[in-house]
Order: sequence, then C-alpha cells, then structure tokens
Amino acid sequence: MSARILIIEDDAASHALVRYLLEAAGHQTLSAFDGAAGVRLALDQQPDLLLCDLQMPVMNGYQVVQALREYPLWKQVPVIAVTAFSMAGDREKTLAAGFDEHISKPISPQHFVAQIEAFLPQALRSPQPTPT
Ligand code: MN
Repeated sequence: MSARILIIEDDAASHALVRYLLEAAGHQTLSAFDGAAGVRLALDQQPDLLLCDLQMPVMNGYQVVQALREYPLWKQVPVIAVTAFSMAGDREKTLAAGFDEHISKPISPQHFVAQIEAFLPQALRSPQPTPT
C-alpha cells in the first residue's frame, strides 16, 4: 500500500529530495512551496501525513500546524517538521507547537522513509524486504 503525503517546503532542493525518496518507496506526494498554499492543499486533499518545513514565506511551519489543528479532521493526522532548526530546545518547541515529530535537516536518505512511515498505519507503509 502507499500513503498520500503532502510536502510543504520552500527550498527546491530539499523539496525534490524528500519527494524523490517518498515516491521511490511507492508513496504519492502532493507539493506546496509556502505555508499558506500548504494549508489550502491540506484542507482540500486531506493527505495521510504532512511533512512541513518551519522557515517558509507567507506562513511559517508553526502557523501551518496551528491553523490545521483547529480542524477536527486534522487533530489525528501526523504532522512532521523537517527543519534546519537543530539547536538545544528546538525539538521541544516544535513538539509543543503541535507537531508529532521533529526531523533535522540535512535528512538521512537511508533512514528518512522509515522515520516517516513510523507515523503511518501498517497498511500504508511500503513493503518491507522479507527477513532472511
Ligand atoms: Mn525553509
């Protein structure tokens, strides 16, 4: 099975890498490049999971998660921050703002999909290699 995952990220290179990794694992992606466009797409498309940068034009990531959590449907959707913020206290601030997880950039291409899929129901995760 695959999930529908919305990526809200203003940096083109980061956005392209995340999209590539998720699509290579079989997931469908939706893309927005600023926070306000991301909120509109999120409400319109109701993805299974949202990945969101924090530093963005128009609306930042904190404003995005705050806006979405107002909607009953969005209380349960996993929302994960993918951010260059990696100072002491940044993770706590991210989680306190309503995100489910804080992943620091640069992301690890080897581990990123598994990190994300931990927040998806089993049925929506990519097929795992058969244990040997
Ligand atoms: Mn950014």
